[in-house]
Amino acid sequence: MVDLVSQYHNIKKEVDASIMNVLESAAFINGPEVKAFQKELEEYLQVKHVIPCGNGTDALQIALMALGLKPGDEVITTTFTFVATAEVIALLGLTPVLVDADPDTFTIDIEGVKNNITDKTKAIIPVHLFGQCANMEAIMQIANEHNLYVVEDNAQAIGANYTFSDGTVKKSGTIGNIGTTSFFPSKNLGAYGDGGALFTNDDELADKMRMIVNHGMKVRYYHDEIGVNSRLDSIQAAVLRIKLRKLDEYSAARNYAANYYNQAFASNPKIKTPAIGTYTDHVFHQYTLVLDESINRDELREKLAENDIPAMIYYPVPLHMQKAYKSERYSEGDFPVSEHLAKHVISLPMHTELDDEQLAYITAKMNELTQ
Ligand SMILES: *Cc1c(COP(=O)(O)O)cnc(C)c1O
Repeated sequence: MVDLVSQYHNIKKEVDASIMNVLESAAFINGPEVKAFQKELEEYLQVKHVIPCGNGTDALQIALMALGLKPGDEVITTTFTFVATAEVIALLGLTPVLVDADPDTFTIDIEGVKNNITDKTKAIIPVHLFGQCANMEAIMQIANEHNLYVVEDNAQAIGANYTFSDGTVKKSGTIGNIGTTSFFPSKNLGAYGDGGALFTNDDELADKMRMIVNHGMKVRYYHDEIGVNSRLDSIQAAVLRIKLRKLDEYSAARNYAANYYNQAFASNPKIKTPAIGTYTDHVFHQYTLVLDESINRDELREKLAENDIPAMIYYPVPLHMQKAYKSERYSEGDFPVSEHLAKHVISLPMHTELDDEQLAYITAKMNELTQ
């Protein structure tokens, strides 16, 4: 699905030298590499504050802690996402309120958000799923009307651009009160281990999040907040600095592969290629197709595997149908779009090193096997 080995070989010299530097400095935690990466990411995203942390799940948790939400407060998010988004809501004793996905973009359904606002609603977490932004203009408008916080789960879309109707362009994750991301190795900006970050333009929130990631302290051994221990280590920061410089090039390579796939499947009536919202570009964390209902997905996956083509299902079970997230609020059948997607989506290999030969092989086999 991803070819991190080839990608590493293309940047090996730089990466190896940077890692060796960190080893020689022995500044493994919060060293100069972390500071430098933080500054460079702030510059890239055009955001006032980047707060590095241990992983993307921690980032979401720290964001909700910084907003001061209390048990019983409701947080609206999508049922069609990776579990981390809802997990942190539940973990903090807040109530996840799940809504359906948009059938074309797979991001959070705007009507679903509107219809689920109560006097307990405190925040919305849109997920920029698979690499394109959710409809942030509509979400910010709802949030302003109802005085809600917005935390963007940007784990899959770092580098994407959002265009507002007045022409303003912002980087994904810098629009809501807080944006979060993950540097998990297979993410678009992936480290060689775990990592994550929070973004905000709000000085006060930034201050609070910097304390929370470090045991709630500003002055050593004086704890003003209940915090956590969540750090990005210097070796990861050193790798991320190199890969950040290549991020736009990597996004372009992903788009090249996506365009190749789109063209090859354009006249295949059994395959629906990804649709992109008019307000966003796409960095293709995943290239996800919707198969016609007549196609047996398991069989197709098996046949692809026999031909050495990996394919994955993101995600096979929407959160409202997961054991851990069952609720009296909803039952099977309530979110038809997500339930349909869960049954019929399939993701093809997507990474920065796909070449024409591989793309030709994959698309020819896919077209043959879906006849
Ligand atoms: C990967 C991911 C996360 C969690 O990131 P980790 O670094 O693995 O903790 C959260 N949300 C989404 C949408 C993700 O894809």
